Amino acid sequence: MKRGSNMPAVGTYNQTLVLDMIRRSPTGLSRIELAELTGLSAQTLSNVARKLSVAGLILEGERVVSGPGKPRTMLQLNRRARFAAGIHLDPSIDTFVVVDLSGSIVAHREAPPGDTDSTPDLIAALAANTRALLRSADVPSDRVLGIGAALPGPIDDAEGMLLAPPLLPNWHHTRVRDLLIQSTDLPVVVEKDVIAAMVGEQWADADHALRDAALLYYGAGVGLGIAHDGEAVRGRTGNAGDIGHLVVDPNGPQCQCGMRGCLGFTVAPERLLFDAGVTASLDLPWRAVPAGLDELRARAHDGDARALAVCARAAEALARAIVLINNMLDAGTVVIGGPAWSRLSELLEPRLRTILPTVSQITTTRPLRLVEARLGTDLAAAGAACLVLDNMFSARASGLMISDS
Ligand SMILES: [Zn+2]
Repeated sequence: MKRGSNMPAVGTYNQTLVLDMIRRSPTGLSRIELAELTGLSAQTLSNVARKLSVAGLILEGERVVSGPGKPRTMLQLNRRARFAAGIHLDPSIDTFVVVDLSGSIVAHREAPPGDTDSTPDLIAALAANTRALLRSADVPSDRVLGIGAALPGPIDDAEGMLLAPPLLPNWHHTRVRDLLIQSTDLPVVVEKDVIAAMVGEQWADADHALRDAALLYYGAGVGLGIAHDGEAVRGRTGNAGDIGHLVVDPNGPQCQCGMRGCLGFTVAPERLLFDAGVTASLDLPWRAVPAGLDELRARAHDGDARALAVCARAAEALARAIVLINNMLDAGTVVIGGPAWSRLSELLEPRLRTILPTVSQITTTRPLRLVEARLGTDLAAAGAACLVLDNMFSARASGLMISDS
């Protein structure tokens, strides 16, 4: 648990700390409870609460009587005090969200990915969708902290740039951060999508169950998000989590890398669709994948043998990957989500739960906890928006991102 400091020089640190604790408590916290949790003196805490209240970030809630003495006033987050927008670029669908100060999604929209080589047009479409969503959510423009963009890796995090993600050829070497700043006049942060997804799930995790966890992202590609001691692991270049070439089936299909049975290649949506006979070619346009997966699910429900066999094989590959990941990290909890997972989860999940304990490589001493992503298909976009809030909430001595702190 982080503790406060009674030194006057770190006032903003105390504000972010207190704000974060209030945010994590659904019913709010009284000044007395906050003093106990932070170790701050009653006087310091009173000053911090006053400043947060003047900035409009917290509200005085109901008065609660518990035992003798004065009733306690609960301090609660003013959820509509600030907002952030999130964008997730994906080969099959772009997702846009707006989150309030609690990290809850208040607006959502999807749009087909930009079908053009023109970088200005691609950026303009992202900006227009973001602006339209903020308007539809009735968000005053002076309350928008910024935009978070979740991008498929690899990225250049220092430059805020996409490098050459194989599935997004139109976006190669695009300076997403700077171009979005120019186009929207808002602060922008970029993050690899699986890392953003992990951040999003941590924000949705009020009871700290994901302080140490792994997140298996299953969309057009696969990726791994890692949380260690409450922080998302970014790696040296912001590209941690590339598990596409984890070998899960030595007899599986040959990947472009030369190995057989790489996870990304084995569970690739276009491969499942081809193997199940839903499509006649592996060369499927990305925007056709969601409808294809819906067709695969429908066929499996109707008892189609090929569809069921394909789903069984995918579940087995995912189970093997989850076990290897957990052996490596000792995370204990593995979150699973992403656009492909959302469309196939009702078929894959029961099978996965059955197979997991039987994977022979398992070394964990406790049962592995498998949970579904709470944010569904919005996990990366919402996580990117929460990264913007993170700048405000993370209890660091460096300060608070509001002008009147
Ligand atoms: Zn490979």
